[in-house]
Amino acid sequence: MDGEELDRAVNACQDLIAQRFPGGGERGAAAMLLADGTILTGTAPDAVNPAVEVCHEIEPSAGAFRPNQKIIASVCLHRDETGRVLVLRPCGVCRERLAVHGPDVLVGVTAPEDPAQVVWKRLRDVLPDYWMTVFSQEVSGRRR
Ligand SMILES: [Zn+2]
Repeated sequence: MDGEELDRAVNACQDLIAQRFPGGGERGAAAMLLADGTILTGTAPDAVNPAVEVCHEIEPSAGAFRPNQKIIASVCLHRDETGRVLVLRPCGVCRERLAVHGPDVLVGVTAPEDPAQVVWKRLRDVLPDYWMTVFSQEVSGRRR
């Protein structure tokens, strides 16, 4: 994995927002880089009841599980009402879902000086006191 592949994931995420929601407005998407180099994207379907909406990461995460591919990196972006595309750090639930792929999964977080710039961090660094580490140094429950 190199910076070019990570850039491809960010670009794919931006492209999905632009193509799926060409009319503008607040919308988001996620993209994940898999071990075989595939990039999967996804977005959250609308729901009448906001309580049942899901994270943008659900679709690419499920898409990686189907062919048993390891997730290498994950990024989530949000276009605001002005058209600016901001980086959304993965929520706690998505961090938990990514943990099955190990502590070295890269996640896109916000640069301190620019919320539109992606900074890549290892999952272990955004989950420093992860609950599973009490059992093992290897934080991976990934099954074949
Ligand atoms: Zn989430």
